[in-house]
Amino acid sequence: PKPIHVVGGGLAGSEAAWQIAEAGIPVILHEMRGVRGTDAHKTDSLAELVCSNSFRSDDATANAVGVIHAEMRMAGSLIMRCADANQVPAGGALAVDRDGFAEAVTGELARHPQVEIRREEIEGLPPEDWGQTVIATGPLTAPALADAIRAQTGADALAFFDAIAPIVHFDSIDLHTAWFQSRYDKVGPGGTGKDYINCPLDKAQYEAFVAALIAGEKTEFREWEGTPYFDGCLPIEIMAERGSETLRHGPMKPMGLTNVHQPDIKAYAVVQLRQDNALGTLYNMVGFQTKLKYAEQVRIFRTIPGLENAEFARLGGLHRNTYLDSPRLLDGTLRLKSRPSLRFAGQITGCEGYVESASVGLMAGRFASAEALGRAATPPPPTSAMGALLGHITGGHIEAQEEGGKRSFQPMNVNFGLFPPVEVPKEEGKRLRGKEKTIAKRRAMASRALKDFSNWLENGALSAAAE
Ligand code: FAD
Repeated sequence: PKPIHVVGGGLAGSEAAWQIAEAGIPVILHEMRGVRGTDAHKTDSLAELVCSNSFRSDDATANAVGVIHAEMRMAGSLIMRCADANQVPAGGALAVDRDGFAEAVTGELARHPQVEIRREEIEGLPPEDWGQTVIATGPLTAPALADAIRAQTGADALAFFDAIAPIVHFDSIDLHTAWFQSRYDKVGPGGTGKDYINCPLDKAQYEAFVAALIAGEKTEFREWEGTPYFDGCLPIEIMAERGSETLRHGPMKPMGLTNVHQPDIKAYAVVQLRQDNALGTLYNMVGFQTKLKYAEQVRIFRTIPGLENAEFARLGGLHRNTYLDSPRLLDGTLRLKSRPSLRFAGQITGCEGYVESASVGLMAGRFASAEALGRAATPPPPTSAMGALLGHITGGHIEAQEEGGKRSFQPMNVNFGLFPPVEVPKEEGKRLRGKEKTIAKRRAMASRALKDFSNWLENGALSAAAE
């Protein structure tokens, strides 16, 4: 078959190239480092880890990241094999010797007879005659290619930073304190008038909260310095610094809301949470993008009434990050709808993290291989970790209704909130409470994921003939 091109030899591109080569298809991997660097990478090695050396939890029995590790190993992942071979001690986490790891990935690809590595920057959209191409140029995609992608997808479809509001697991919100209601009971398209969860603060609580935001420890973003804040995504602590009333007139305004638990007491300020995924298992804190350190966010946000026991699926942040509005732009197997010969993979699709990026590379490589071999590209089941992550990227996310169609898709790590609910066996469910019940649910989700994924590998992944 004709070679498949992969642009970008990071976590995702290296894995995609490997999967394609292992399927017996020639692959040309274009990586610019060696010719041009990025603000974060320090070496010319493929799959360089730009920051931490951790692949996070390796627990496949009750942790979503551990489950995705296990699925990748089953699928013959190069990234996981090289990580396993270069492990350093890190408790239950999988951490690696970063140089040993990147050299192993680089060596394996360089030696593979189906792989050709070209050190060059791709400065625009790949030419049509390349045919199937996987673009995996990451959060720091070089500007010329980013501009070309932007021209192809439309100006608001490619973001250059993410301003992330924290996302909370629904079942950790205390609905004895919080309540469902849309402001002025407004019913938007597809809405019910009860689309938000509201957490009330009285005057003293609000003032303490504002003070905590101002005093809280913030992260520093070297890369962010000098960049003006965009309208509509100011970090909450910056709003707090502008005056004690600013938040109360902004994202925390109490107007149009009546506390069902205490109808006679008007809240002084309100934190609203909005459903974040179709399953209703995740809620984001509306307007709460922040540069507070993670531990500070957990500490300060748990002072909000109703969120005392909140479990966060992801915390807020502000980063430089090039990523697509994937739910709108990509089809179910990561192809650009407006030009299906282009597939995207890695962090540019709106996943977050080394492992997640590599897993999306794995899927893109397999989908591209299936297509090259004249077979149907079948996505992994939504009950698997990879399928759940793919669902977040290509469709599971709900667009915010009242923001005038403004994009609201945000990058995310894999987490159990993305998985469809699971039944804990009745007897066990009756016996268990609280945390134990959550753990039982996670275990059930993990074992279901591994079973369904392995079934997909055996029966669905590459075997189905194209229609
Ligand atoms: P990358 O690994 O960045 O790979 C993209 C590759 O494409 C690069 O090698 C780049 O040189 C190349 N490239 C770009 N443009 C072109 C072009 N036009 N032509 C040819 N080649 C091109 N995740 C974690 O899990 N833990 C962390 O600690 C962590 N820290 C991060 C710190 C920073 C500063 C950033 C930006 C991200 C961090 N991430 C972290 C997020 C993410 O997991 C990593 O960025 C990850 O490397 C993404 O994988 P990728 O394959 O999508 O992109």
